[in-house]
This record gives sequence, C-alpha cells and structure tokens, in this order.
Amino acid sequence: MTEVKVLEGKDLTRIERIGAHSHIRGLGLDDALEARKSSQGMVGQQAARRAAGVILQMIKDGKIAGRAVLLAGQPGTGKTAIAMGMAKALGEEAPFAMMAGSEIFSLEMSKTEALTQAFRKAIGVRIKEETEIIEGEVVEIQIDRPATVGAASKTGKLTLKTTEMETVYDLGTKMIEALTKQKVQSGDVVAIDKASGKISKLGRSFARARDYDAMGPQTKFVQCPDGELQKRKEVVHVVTLHEIDVINSRTQGFLALFAGDTGEIRTEVREQIDTKVAEWREEGKAEIIPGVLFIDEVHMLDIECFSYLNRALENEMAPILVVATNRGITRIRGTNYKSPHGIPIDLLDRLLIITTVPYSEEEIRMILDIRCEEEDVEMSEDAKELLTKIGKETSLRYAIHLITAASLACQKRKGKEVEIEDISRVYSLFVDVKRSTQFLMEYQEQFMF
Ligand code: ATP
Repeated sequence: MTEVKVLEGKDLTRIERIGAHSHIRGLGLDDALEARKSSQGMVGQQAARRAAGVILQMIKDGKIAGRAVLLAGQPGTGKTAIAMGMAKALGEEAPFAMMAGSEIFSLEMSKTEALTQAFRKAIGVRIKEETEIIEGEVVEIQIDRPATVGAASKTGKLTLKTTEMETVYDLGTKMIEALTKQKVQSGDVVAIDKASGKISKLGRSFARARDYDAMGPQTKFVQCPDGELQKRKEVVHVVTLHEIDVINSRTQGFLALFAGDTGEIRTEVREQIDTKVAEWREEGKAEIIPGVLFIDEVHMLDIECFSYLNRALENEMAPILVVATNRGITRIRGTNYKSPHGIPIDLLDRLLIITTVPYSEEEIRMILDIRCEEEDVEMSEDAKELLTKIGKETSLRYAIHLITAASLACQKRKGKEVEIEDISRVYSLFVDVKRSTQFLMEYQEQFMF
C-alpha cells in the first residue's frame, strides 16, 4: 500500500442502527452541568445524565484517562440513549459506535477482531486538505467543435483574467463539459480548482468574487511562484479509522462499508494506516477525534475480551468506553469466578458506575411525544394517554415501537391522526414480552412433548 486512501465524508452516508435514538442531540445539561428536565431530546434520568456530563468534563480536562463508564440499569431505562448523548455532547464530529456483547460470538471474525473494529469505528480522524483554486474573470472562451460528428472530445481555449494577469488554458473535455453545464460565458467570474479542474461560476464581477473570498470557508489568497493569483481552500472531512481500514483493505474495499460485512482486516493494513495517520498528525494535516464506544450486555464478553478492553483503554487514541449491563453478581465468562456484573476486578476498578432508574408515567409521556414528533406522526391525546399506560405496563421500547406500527394502521384506514383504535389494533397484533411470557407459561404443557 503506497498511499492511504480516505473517503470523503460527504461521499459516505453512514448506515447506522441508531434510528431509535435519532432524537437525542446531547445530554441536555446546562452550563453548570445540571440536567434540564427535558432538553436536547433527553427526558428525566437527571442524576445519570449529570454524572455522565461530569465524567465527560473530566475527560475533556484531561483529569482522567484510561477509564470507562458502566451504565447499570433495567432494560429500556435509557442506557443507550445516555451513551449516545455523551457522543453528541463531545461535538458533531465525534463518532458513536455501538455493539452488543453477544456480537463477538461470530463465525466470521475472531473476538478481538470484532472488538478492534468496534474501537476503530469510535475513533474519528479529521483530515485537512488544501486544494488550489484560481479565480478570475473569463475573458474569452473558444471551443472548437469536433471535426467528426459523434466524436467524444472537443478542444478549446479559455482566457481567464485574474487581478494580476491573464492566463490561457487549454480546455480538456472535462472542463468544456463543466463550462457548458454551468453556462459560463465571457464576463463571468469563475473559480477553478487546479487539482480537479472543477469550475464554479461565482458571478459577473470581481466585486462578487471578493465577496466570495470573504464568505468562502477557510479560504485565503496566496501568491504563487509563477505570479498567478491563487486561492487555497481548506477542505475538512471526518472519517473513522475503521472506514480508512476498510477502504484500504484489498480484500474488502469501499462497498463492504455499505454492506456492513467487512470480515477480518489484516494487521499490516492497520499498522500502515496508523503510521500514516501519525505522519498526518505530525504534519498538522490530521487530528484524532475520540468518540464513544458503547458495549451493551457487557456481561456477555469473556475474560479474553475483558483483558483486550483493559489494554485498549491504555491507548492514547482510545474512545470513551461506555459499557452497560442489567446483571448483578454473575459468573465471568471463560472463568469459574463470580463478580459484580460479571466483570473482572481489574476492569471494574477502571469503571465509573452510573445507575439508571425506571421512568415515571409523565416522563414516558414526554419521551413518546418527542418520538411522535421525530417520526412525524400525528396522534390524538387519548391515543397518547393509552400508549403511555402501555409503556408503563410493558416497556418504553415497546411503546416506542408501537408508534410506527400504529401510524401504519392509521394510514391504512386513511385516518388523519393515530387514534385509540390504531393503538389497540397494533397492541393486539404485536405481543410485548410480558404477554409473550405469560402465554408461554399458560401453554407450556402443550409446548413440551
Ligand atoms: P437495553 O438495556 O434494553 O439496551 P436501554 O437502557 O439501552 O435498553 P434505550 O434503548 O436507551 O434503553 O431506550 C429505549 C428507547 O427510549 C430509545 O428509543 C431511547 O432513545 C429512548 N429513551 C430512553 N431514555 C430516554 C430519555 N431519557 N430521553 C429520551 N429518550 C429516551
């Protein structure tokens, strides 16, 4: 691998399983790190949110390193939501990666490979690149028509006048296409990206061009040796280390990112990438943005994985590790020892523990309101009340799922807003865990044979 490829952020739509948390935009804390009752999509769970905010602040201030957070609480009490809120609070660019402890038991890759990938998904790299842009007024464009009909290429000349001088460019097909597409004519002010030959039409006067200069993100004029007046534009994009790994892995390639099926990545590839990224950092071309890695059901990990986590936390590029469990004292997988949350003592020592508590009816209602808005679902007051009761009786997650289902039921009957009948309909169609267990208990005799 001679050159490390990076994918431009805008080219990649990250497909993440975070739809359920799309309403979370932060931890919802004020400047004193107190949790607002409802803010940034976050409702209730104030003690836990405040604790998460204090930990974040300590990490940012460099007061703690190599530590991780354990969120302990019942299912559906917002553990994932809080972890995600922490990532958002780190800033827009900080990546958030999540995995369930059980995901390491895959036939396609080793346990440590699965963990390595998860860690690298949570480490962002901000890459800065400079492109040269020449800006000036188009004095003349001559395009020669192709001699034979149907010939693909055309040739031509473009005379561009900058404040300093006039330059004549030989036009390639690509540039002619760009000029035609943007309907560039003499008198227009254009900016030409030297590397890509991309032309942007800016307006019809130099005054406008200067405005562009003031407006343009991180642009500056530089005098080049040949006397041309050029602009350098800084382009910044953020990718994760894992994305760089996949793109540069010969066996995988770019499309694997979309399929999510990346298989194992060779150690040499990662080593080369780490070296390259370190070089970029030294040259001031790249910065590391540690994000948050959330591992749910952490008790499913075994002793090998725990020792991997211990080591990984020592790395200076380590993301903030947030693990979650709803287990009490249980056996550490891969050993015969029991310990709190099934986590070995050396890792427990590093963990700052935050507990989450069940939601009140009022809080459930507020979260459901937020989700309805997020999913663009109109719902009547009665229906919301019923859904809140269902959430209280079953689980918040179940009630949230019913929003989408009930909205489909409403669409089917061509209703304007979700009514009680839609909720009842989907409630009877999709059983929650409690009813499902009850059903199994009642009929267990028939199930056994
Ligand atoms: P599990 O342990 O089963 O994974 P969990 O504790 O991680 O559950 P979440 O998945 O975070 O629970 O919560 C269930 C749903 O409720 C999600 O859609 C989540 O975004 C939303 N939610 C949970 N807590 C809050 C909160 N405090 N404010 C807003 N939304 C929340």
